[in-house]
Amino acid sequence: MPEIILPEVELNIYSPKAPAEATIVENYVCTAEGSPNIVRHITFDISGTDLVGKFRVGQSIGVLPPGENEKGRPHKLRLYSVSSPSKGENGEKHLVSTTVKRAMDEVDGTFYMGVCSNYICNLKPGDIVNVTGPSGRRYLLPENADDFNYVFFATGTGIAPFRGMIIELFESGFKGDVALVFGCPYRTDVLYPKFFNEMAENNNNFHYIKMISREDRREDGSKFYVQTAIEDQSKILDPILSKENTLIYLCGMKGMETGIYHNLAKNGHMDYLLLRGGLEDKDPKEWTWEESKTLIKPSGRTFEEVY
Ligand code: FAD
Ligand code: NDP
Repeated sequence: MPEIILPEVELNIYSPKAPAEATIVENYVCTAEGSPNIVRHITFDISGTDLVGKFRVGQSIGVLPPGENEKGRPHKLRLYSVSSPSKGENGEKHLVSTTVKRAMDEVDGTFYMGVCSNYICNLKPGDIVNVTGPSGRRYLLPENADDFNYVFFATGTGIAPFRGMIIELFESGFKGDVALVFGCPYRTDVLYPKFFNEMAENNNNFHYIKMISREDRREDGSKFYVQTAIEDQSKILDPILSKENTLIYLCGMKGMETGIYHNLAKNGHMDYLLLRGGLEDKDPKEWTWEESKTLIKPSGRTFEEVY
């Protein structure tokens, strides 16, 4: 296993007290057709700020929505994963992109709209936004990225960092294997489908696996989730996961890590995990959900960004 050399990054060049001004240059829906899951690709122009060239894919950008919360205090900062490669959207280092889902909920008959995601999704080219960052120190591609293979697990907008990472890897002639396992409720929710389909068509070493949870069911009646791909798509994933120089990245909803780690263990891929509390003495098939949740931690080969 080659040494994983993570790049040095600059953090919080701009903070909520002293944010930078960015200009919106692009804002478009990133599903192929209409979907109730409204997700938009947003590009910020950070020209004239000290952020130019500073965001690495895997890091996040902070956005400060205008206005005040119900307590009369300024709205808090929200973080959004960078979905452009480190050298910038379209290779332009003053452009940084993200992938934002309009957050909304109905609770007890009252409809709530997320403050920041809807603010960002309503912005038009030319609008000015207060931003902070960069944020995030470890969720990065190694500097020696070509020394590894990658399995990326994403749920929903957790795809954001992988869009940028995949552009970054393949634009520099990456020869190893990359598998992207993407989970969403319906086929209409697949994010950036054109980009990833074309990547799969044009690169034999890019493996694109979609796990659609609410259309079909697995034989045992359970849903197709990113973690069930470890079994359902073992023909593709097993050979990659078995290589000694493969790294795993996961991004998206909190909770996805437990199923992924448990299924990795059940399929003999222990090197991605650190076990505690005597779990190593038990057959992974016998591990309970609670044990998997509390007693498995990611090893150095596993990178996790969930919340
Ligand atoms: P909020 O206003 O914070 O509300 C949150 C939710 O609660 C909404 O769904 C809202 O409808 C609901 N709500 C509000 N008030 C009530 C109430 N009184 N009762 C019940 N429900 C209520 N998100 C992305 O879309 N893309 C990304 O790439 C991304 N990357 C992230 C990276 C990191 C490291 C982290 C920590 C988060 C990331 N997020 C990302 C999530 C993002 O930061 C926000 O949390 C998200 O956009 C919701 O913020 P909001 O201001 O729109 O919603
Ligand atoms: P979607 O609802 O579009 O898709 C999520 C998919 O994951 C669905 O198919 C869902 O299935 C499935 N799923 C539900 N529970 C699990 C589980 N335990 N394990 C694996 N898969 C599961 O996703 P959203 O875009 O709405 O949300 C994704 C989450 O990622 C949010 O919490 C978002 O805020 C977060 N996020 C985090 C980031 C970060 O930390 N850097 C970056 C971007 C997003 P079903 O609903 O049918 O059960």
